[in-house]
Amino acid sequence: MKNAELIFVPAPVRGHLISMVELAKLLINRNESISVTILIMKFPYDAGVSSYMDSLSNDPIPRCSILEIPPSNSESYKSQSYHTMISTFIAGHFTNVKNEVIAMTQPDRSTRLAGFVLDIFCVSMVDIAKELNVPAYVYLTSGASYLGILLHLQAMTDYQNKDISEYQDSDAQLSVPYYKNLVPANVLPAICLDEKGSEVTLSWGRKLRETKGIIVNTFVELETYAVQSLVVDTTEIPLVYAVGPNLNLTSVGQDIDEAADVFTWLDEKPLSSVVFLCFGSYGSFLEDQVKEIALALEHSGHPFLWSLRPSGIDSNLNKYANLDDMLPPGFLERTSGTGKIIGWAPQVAVLSHRAVGGFVSHCGWNSILESVWFGVPVATWPLYAEQQLNAFEMVNELEMAVDISIDYDTFSKNTVIIEAKIIESKIRELMKDGSDIRNRVTEIQRKSRAAIAETGSSYNNLGRLIEDIIAA
Ligand code: UDP
Repeated sequence: MKNAELIFVPAPVRGHLISMVELAKLLINRNESISVTILIMKFPYDAGVSSYMDSLSNDPIPRCSILEIPPSNSESYKSQSYHTMISTFIAGHFTNVKNEVIAMTQPDRSTRLAGFVLDIFCVSMVDIAKELNVPAYVYLTSGASYLGILLHLQAMTDYQNKDISEYQDSDAQLSVPYYKNLVPANVLPAICLDEKGSEVTLSWGRKLRETKGIIVNTFVELETYAVQSLVVDTTEIPLVYAVGPNLNLTSVGQDIDEAADVFTWLDEKPLSSVVFLCFGSYGSFLEDQVKEIALALEHSGHPFLWSLRPSGIDSNLNKYANLDDMLPPGFLERTSGTGKIIGWAPQVAVLSHRAVGGFVSHCGWNSILESVWFGVPVATWPLYAEQQLNAFEMVNELEMAVDISIDYDTFSKNTVIIEAKIIESKIRELMKDGSDIRNRVTEIQRKSRAAIAETGSSYNNLGRLIEDIIAA
């Protein structure tokens, strides 16, 4: 019997790509008859992707090939919003992905095509799988609750004839079958409700239902209610495999000298004393907000490590040319003994450091899973995408985080500035020793490790997934 070859199609954004490569490694390591080909569509803006791809080619993964797929047109994306831009970009690669995979089905190949694993952004490629008569799975790099929202909004639109755009700027509370609490409309991702964006996310919901299964980077013990509700749902949801936390535990992308300096600094700090602030690949704040955060940190008295970067879609490797201009006068001198401001952070290594006691986070799903894995409590400061929803889940559904703000919007010039005294009090709450939140996080940390250990829930789900892939 030939090896089963899976075609992985990641979205060309860092957080998604790295997580998907980790899934490929997981499958390959678990079963020696699985091979993976990862098709890379290079997004013109994301500098972090290129450096990550270089690191992969220096350290190849056994039975895993990486193939760059050029676009079949030279579309300009400049005038489009982020999500429409991504879907136009994916559509522009459709034909070349299809042709490449057809070439792989030739009888002289040493492997047999066993199916596709698609990022949610690429779920439209389920049509290629259908044409080739092989199964398509989706890999969701976010949580099960977000999956629930995508499916629920699509079900409301298609099966209940509801116009979900009325939830825009609304104070409605939605009853969603995958949430214990009512979900406020203002935590729904903007993209799910605005006219252009919702065309994209509704089509994701529809296409998700056409897949053979949905692999989710979560674990049952974390999102128990959401996962169990998805499993028992009767509205034609494919099999859901919770296989996480699936993490890359080597910090990638940071400046090596700066990282060494960070660890020398952290080594001198007392146990669990440092508050770490980091807002994902694209997180940034208006200057007025930066000043309020700075004052809050100074007044809280806690040592702090702050990844502070300017805005921009290609900003993940950028730094402010002159930090002084952004910060309150004299801030850098006054906090030189207690604080450190850096650019791109070696986040996983920082979270694993004994000195770090709290994490102010934008609530990207990878960051949430990393905080859980290292048992560091989070204060939630979501900025865009599905981060508000993730923050709501962490604070209200799971009671595992301190909420700083749910309303800040990176992409709105009119966003409400959160005052220093509020941020300061939340940081104090976050850093409290022996709090209920800290205790819950310690408990879920233990469960996260048990989930992927042999016989753990995610370990078993991965086994089930592999059996289903091989048997197809
Ligand atoms: N990350 C990092 N340093 C930074 C910012 C982010 O190492 O300064 C890593 C972080 O550890 C995580 C990923 O980049 O693995 C961000 O993914 P997440 O899903 O949290 O957010 P996104 O960047 O997709 O918004």
